[in-house]
Amino acid sequence: MKREIVQMGKKVLRKEAQYIEPSEITSDTIQNIITDMHESLATQNDGVAIAAPQIGESYQIFTVAPFLFDEPEKEHLVYINPVIKERSKKEKWMHEGCLSCRWKVGEVERSLETVVEAYDEHGQKFTVHATGLLAHIHQHEIDHLYGTLFIDKARKLRDMTQKEIDEVLEGK
Ligand SMILES: [Zn+2]
Repeated sequence: MKREIVQMGKKVLRKEAQYIEPSEITSDTIQNIITDMHESLATQNDGVAIAAPQIGESYQIFTVAPFLFDEPEKEHLVYINPVIKERSKKEKWMHEGCLSCRWKVGEVERSLETVVEAYDEHGQKFTVHATGLLAHIHQHEIDHLYGTLFIDKARKLRDMTQKEIDEVLEGK
């Protein structure tokens, strides 16, 4: 079931999300949240990933949009209890926005590479070494799970123009 995306100002976005016992991952509660995250993310034209607190659930989960990958069925789209094990020292100021911070954009300094360990939706542990957009997503989403929003770290933070907003809403 798709849900409203929680907007900044709400407490759920500002607290540390709850760790999920691996044995609970296959429970109906967690599986339903994962389904709702996928469906809610799919309603957003510019949505590349979403963290559980953004649909009002304070759990350590984020999901990634399948359209980012050529073969999404071969990729990990669900990260549970994710931990950044390594990140490159090399950083770059990256353009960033957030489904929970409508309609702001800015630049955030992010590592160019990450190694993240997490559990998948079946309760299996995995490790992903990411570069580019996926590494960027890892850092933004894991921040969400600790109550941090990109606006806390951004420079050149500004409101989007109506033209930019319209382009997102029209899916350009
Ligand atoms: Zn976000």
